[in-house]
Amino acid sequence: MHFIRLFDSDYGKNNSPITEDAMAGHLPWEWSRLTPFFFLHAGCLGVIWTGASPFAVLFALGFYVFRMFAITGFYHRYFSHRTFKTSRMMQFIFAIWGLLAVQRGPLWWAANHRHHHQHSDKPTDLHSPLQRGFWWAHIGWLTNSFSMPTRYERIGDYAKFPELVWLNRFDWFVPLLLFLGMYALGDTLAHVAPQLGTTGWQMVVWGFFISTVLLYHGTSTINSLSHVFGSQRFETGDTSRNNWLLAIITLGEGWHNNHHRYQAAAQQGFYWWEIDMTYYVLRAMAAVGLIWELKPVPASIYAEAANGKLAMAKPTSTPVPTGSAA
Ligand SMILES: [Zn+2]
Ligand SMILES: [Zn+2]
Repeated sequence: MHFIRLFDSDYGKNNSPITEDAMAGHLPWEWSRLTPFFFLHAGCLGVIWTGASPFAVLFALGFYVFRMFAITGFYHRYFSHRTFKTSRMMQFIFAIWGLLAVQRGPLWWAANHRHHHQHSDKPTDLHSPLQRGFWWAHIGWLTNSFSMPTRYERIGDYAKFPELVWLNRFDWFVPLLLFLGMYALGDTLAHVAPQLGTTGWQMVVWGFFISTVLLYHGTSTINSLSHVFGSQRFETGDTSRNNWLLAIITLGEGWHNNHHRYQAAAQQGFYWWEIDMTYYVLRAMAAVGLIWELKPVPASIYAEAANGKLAMAKPTSTPVPTGSAA
């Protein structure tokens, strides 16, 4: 069952309905499910044999940024929170772009993320460091049966597009192409630009393994560290924090307390000094017409911030998309 799900993530999806009661109970680490992570981390050791070249290292870093943008701009701000609109074709491209990050499919990712916002730091939260500690929030939650299937009932608004369901179901397909593409790139460069000093396997190690592992841990700081370190502008009733360093690492996601207060906005840095690279790129994409209707932060939220925490003893929460909206 575990094994088949690696290749068809919807296999047996109706066999074990998940209840919130069960999730609030003891959630064990299921070590066998760490196999893909072990594979990704072990692959980094290939550097012992392939070595490095300036091209491979710079590519790995640039590719980290390119894919982090897809996670934050598309998986998070588009698929999870619907903070802007786009065409069906661009939506399809966003899904493939996100799949290059090797963090499973957009529907799986967004459905679990919506759950996080509805259950933040409660016993039913999938990855609360408050409830289950740092390592669970960082990686352990991914090893658990509860987090494996796509909760289609939470993401019905996008599950009506068959192309997205297919990409989500066979979430290994794009990563496989990425692996092969890295080899092809490095091997081609070795022939046409030997002065770069790279090879097929060196690009696999740097472009696929090392860049992806860094991207995984960078993304996961939002589940683990940004619910632990930083300041709270808003009293959101959970442990979400604002942290400038995490905002740099994640292209803007570190303004996590802002985001927990008002999830419907396309921006997470609420002021000019809160650097939010994802938002700047989204603005540029909107300027050339690729996306539109970026949702702003309402004046009432700014007023709340200006008034300090006293005014927010009981904040009204922003609605989390439930999946039933059209
Ligand atoms: Zn959070
Ligand atoms: Zn969110």
